[in-house]
Amino acid sequence: MKNVVIFGAPGSGKGTQSDKMIAKYGFEHISTGDVLRNEIKNGTPLGTTAKDFIDKGQLIPDELMIDILASVYDSFGKDHKGVIFDGFPRTIPQAEALKKMLEERGHKVAAMIELDVPEEELMKRLLLRGQQSGRSDDNEETIKKRLNVYHSQTAPLIEWYKKEGVHNHIDGLGELERIFADVCSVLERL
Ligand code: AMP
Repeated sequence: MKNVVIFGAPGSGKGTQSDKMIAKYGFEHISTGDVLRNEIKNGTPLGTTAKDFIDKGQLIPDELMIDILASVYDSFGKDHKGVIFDGFPRTIPQAEALKKMLEERGHKVAAMIELDVPEEELMKRLLLRGQQSGRSDDNEETIKKRLNVYHSQTAPLIEWYKKEGVHNHIDGLGELERIFADVCSVLERL
């Protein structure tokens, strides 16, 4: 079982690389952003709370995210090939909670894959995605806030995962297939 954290700033290609990993390896996938957008679409109380934070470019409080995570993970049953965590963890308390949740089940994070993309490129990609997807948080003002949140709250996880001994850096700028080949070479070493 290969549980993998796909990591990077908004717009770094986590969703795209996750789709390719799912197709090639048959992994399960948890995108916390997708989970929240679904809750918003269904008009649930969690969705109503989440919308306020998402539209401000802020993170949803850790306690809420941690509860969601365990229930989605358990919905995959016991025999999955591995789960891709996409957009989670985004804070050190979330990383600690993920570790504990997996340990309680006799599992672990086998690799954290960091997609490293320069800031100007992230902005370009997210503005383009906003035109195509209509995501309410892909506008210039909210993107800037999300990138600041990434640097202050999420990027410290790089050091955290280095200490765990599972961090892998990938250059996320360039040809999609080259990036995916780099991702596959990490997975095949596990
Ligand atoms: P994403 O689709 O991963 O870019 O997430 C979109 C938004 O959902 C983020 O800007 C946050 O407001 C919220 N969100 C997604 N995942 C998390 C998480 N792990 N912790 C807190 N907030 C999250």
